[in-house]
Parts: sequence; C-alpha cells; structure tokens
Amino acid sequence: MSEQSTDVFFADLRAGFKESLLKKVGRLFLQAGFSNIVMQDDLVAVKIHVGEEGCTAYVRPDFVRVIVDEITTAGARPFLAETNTLYHGLRSNSIGHLKLAALHGFTEANAGAPLIICDGLTGQNCCEVRIDQSHCQEAFIASDIARANAVVSVAHFKLHLATGFGGAIKNVAMGCASMTGKLAQHCNVRPFVDTKRCTLCGRCRDVCRYGAIRLEEKAALLNESKCAGCAECIASCPTEAIRVKWDATSRDLQERMVEYLFAVVKGKEGKMGYLNFLTNITPGCDCMPFSDAPIVPDIGILASLDPIAIDQASIDLVNRSTGFENTALKERFKSGHDKVRAVYPDIDWEVQLQYGERLGLGHRSYRLITI
Ligand code: SF4
Ligand code: SF4
Repeated sequence: MSEQSTDVFFADLRAGFKESLLKKVGRLFLQAGFSNIVMQDDLVAVKIHVGEEGCTAYVRPDFVRVIVDEITTAGARPFLAETNTLYHGLRSNSIGHLKLAALHGFTEANAGAPLIICDGLTGQNCCEVRIDQSHCQEAFIASDIARANAVVSVAHFKLHLATGFGGAIKNVAMGCASMTGKLAQHCNVRPFVDTKRCTLCGRCRDVCRYGAIRLEEKAALLNESKCAGCAECIASCPTEAIRVKWDATSRDLQERMVEYLFAVVKGKEGKMGYLNFLTNITPGCDCMPFSDAPIVPDIGILASLDPIAIDQASIDLVNRSTGFENTALKERFKSGHDKVRAVYPDIDWEVQLQYGERLGLGHRSYRLITI
C-alpha cells in the first residue's frame, strides 16, 4: 500500500438483535470520523438524491435520518440538500421537486431535517467560485450549499450511462451545481429551440440577459454566438421547447465533474464527508424514471473523508462481486470482471478517479476498514 492512502470504512449489511442496520450506519458515521467535520452550530448540508418519479433505488430516508441525528448530536444544524435538474421533469423546479421528495418520504418528520432545494425556485440561485482549472475558470454552486459550513454526501452508488458510475464525486459535483453549473458540466454547446414545441410566448427572450434570443415567424431563434450558457431560458419555457444537446464526451464530462467537486470542496477543506450506499446497484442513475434490476448483490455501506478513495473502493467492491444474470449485465459476470465496461463498453470510468487524484482531491489508494 502506498503511503498516500486514505481510510475507507465499510459496514456490511448484516444486522441482528444486538444491532440494526440503522444503528450500524450511526456507528459507521462515528468511526469514519464524521463528528470531527461538524462543529457546534455549523449549518450542515446533507446532500441526498430524492430519486426521479418512478425511481425506487434511492437511499431511503430512514438511513438519512440516522445521519441527520448524528450531526444534530454533534451540536450542528443539518438540512437535507438537493438541487433542481437541467432536464425537464418534476425535479426541474422547487415546487415539483419538494412534492416528489415528500412522496418519496423525505419529509422533516421522516428524515429529521427540512429539505432545502439549494438553487432556488428554478435552479438559478448560485455562488460563482473561482477555480481556474483546465475546463472551468469558475464554477456555479447552488447558493445554500456554497454557504453551508460543512457537507455530508449521502450517495447511492450505481452505474451511469455517461460517466460509467455515479458515486460521491457525481453526487457532490453535479448534485451541488446550479442549473448553469450543470449545463457547464454537461456540454460545450448551447441549448437549442425545438421549433415544433415553440408557441412564440416570448418568455425565453424576456429572461435572456444576453439578448441571444429573438422571436422569428415560426419559433424563437437562439443565437449561439451571443449565448452565455446560463440556462435561464430552459427553466422559463412553459412548453419544454428549449433543450440541451447531451453530447459532451464522457472524458470531458467526468473532468468537468471533478472540477466542480473541487469548487464545492474549496473553502470547506476538512468539512466534507462522504457515504456511499452500495445497495440496489442499478445499471442507470436515479434521475431515470425507473430503476432496472441490480447487476450485482447488495454489498454494504462505505464512509470516508476522501471522495476519490470512497469511489475507488466502491467500484472495486462492485467489480469483485459476482454479477447477476437476466439483468443489463450480459457478460463478465465473474468476480474481478469490469462490470461497468460490460454494460457501457465505450466509457472509461477511471477518468474521474485519475483526474480527481491529479487535482489533489484524494487518493485512489485506500485502506478498507471493516467496522
Ligand atoms: S442559456 Fe442563457 S444566455 Fe443562452 S440563450 Fe438561454 S438565457 Fe440566453
Ligand atoms: S419560452 Fe419556449 S415556447 Fe416561449 S418563445 Fe421561448 S421557446 Fe418558444
């Protein structure tokens, strides 16, 4: 093991009369040193994902409550943190988002803390963080996460069609970005108008501060050379006519994600903790309106102060598992086989880990400690 490795704590899913799984998660939180990252009266963002409508694989609020209770016991003030989506759906504004979250059980009564949609009503409330990295000079982070004193990421670890897998890095990077920040990570190109859906209402033209949209005879026209990629028009359109070309290459997307993780961590060094739930390991992410069958058995729950190490440990544990047949996994079932490349052969999932290590966000080398 290299000198530069970090501790990743692992709880398997065994439980009994002496200790329920909920109590075990509390023990994991403490043993991983999370009580040291929160101080008396800190405002702590517990970054969750409430799951898209139809998704059933998200981390249940029962587990989130344990984490919230531990943060409260440490004297801090936790809140559940989410941000609006770039794609159109219930979670693209705070009204639909809060309603869906309640349907999925993320109420204060269940989870022990209020949920705040941290980038505001339509995903525009953000703080600009200067990072001067290769892709992004600045990052747009949801205001209420940027202003929190500490962040605890609670991620459901699963595969992802654009990045190979989604764990701590993705939950914080994409999940803490405002709509502008999500657009900046997803593509180099600008939104476009689907002329068939446009009713010429003019709302997009009125919100565009850059004068990039004008109304033509049949539809709104977006001038890419004037567009700053702020995404205001996407949220404003009542007919979902303004859309995004999801064509960033996976390498580009993963590297931008890591730069956004860098932005969230900046100023919160020593104030970030990460939990990955390796349960219901589906082939797609929780933004899908369904959850396909898991490709490997449930594994356990990981906790670390290092986002790179915890994601490396998570993917290692998935690849060490024996895969399930009759799932999206069609080959490479054996322990040691790369399950991500079996499902997404064109995605090099290591990019996010390599680049994260290069930016000094953590280490791919880790020590796995079973609690
Ligand atoms: S993304 Fe922003 S700058 Fe570009 S057209 Fe839409 S509102 Fe205007
Ligand atoms: S807001 Fe939508 S429907 Fe209205 S003009 Fe713009 S693109 Fe067309």
